[in-house]
Amino acid sequence: MDDTAVGLAEKSSAEVKDSERVARLRERLERSLREAAEIEVELSRADGSIRGVPHYSVIEGRAHELGKQLSRAVQQRQMSELAAAQATTAKCPTCGTRCAVRPKKRPLQSVDGAAEIADAQGYCPGCRRSFFPAA
Ligand SMILES: [Zn+2]
Repeated sequence: MDDTAVGLAEKSSAEVKDSERVARLRERLERSLREAAEIEVELSRADGSIRGVPHYSVIEGRAHELGKQLSRAVQQRQMSELAAAQATTAKCPTCGTRCAVRPKKRPLQSVDGAAEIADAQGYCPGCRRSFFPAA
C-alpha cells in the first residue's frame, strides 16, 4: 500500500470505531429512556398521581413534565461541560489583566422550565468585577 492507501485505511477504521460508538451510545440512551419511562409509571402509581383509569391528558401531562425535566438535565450537563472545557484564565475586558476563570452556576429560564446552568466566569481583583470571557 502507498501512503494514500494507508491513510484511507486508517480513516475508514476510525470512522468504523466512531459509528460503533454512536450505535452503542444510542442503544444505551434507548435503554435508559425505557427504564426512565418504567420508573415514571411506577412512581405515578406509588405517589397516587395516577389512579385507576385516568383521562389521557393526565398521562400526557405527567409524561411531558418528565420530558421537560430531561431537557433541563441535558442543558445543565452540556453547559457545565462547556464551562469546564474553557480556559482557566482570561483577560479582563476592562484592564487587560489575566484573571482566573471558573465555572459559576446561574439560574436560567429555558423553554422547558427553570434550570441552573454553569457559565465560565472570570473575576478581576483589580477592577473588583466579574466578567464572562466569551462575551
Ligand atoms: Zn480588570
